[in-house]
Amino acid sequence: MKERKTNKKPKELKAWEKERKLIPVMIRKYCRGNHGTRGGLCEECTALTEYALFRLEKCPFKVNKKFCSLCKIHCYKPDMREKIKDVMKWSGPRMIFTHPVFAFRHVFQMINYKRKLKKEAKAKADV
Ligand SMILES: [Zn+2]
Repeated sequence: MKERKTNKKPKELKAWEKERKLIPVMIRKYCRGNHGTRGGLCEECTALTEYALFRLEKCPFKVNKKFCSLCKIHCYKPDMREKIKDVMKWSGPRMIFTHPVFAFRHVFQMINYKRKLKKEAKAKADV
């Protein structure tokens, strides 16, 4: 019997932890590519990283979390949301080279999510 229930890190928090790890990576990539910084972050991107991690910390969906971009609540302030969207748009496709598993899983979840929305919309229309 290899099953152990007393893991330090619950499996349910894995996605959340991954997102917490990858957000700074994506922002760093974006900053280097768009703001020309080397080995650090510009002021704006530092603030964005702090903000994103703070929101993630407060996220009510830590357990079994999907990606923030799929979340219905969209807890970001509008200006921060625009910024993080730009980061995701720019860094997302580039993640395929450095974090292929993550990037593909993200795309896959996105497709599933859209399919689910369609189904829900159809179910509502049927009632
Ligand atoms: Zn920057």
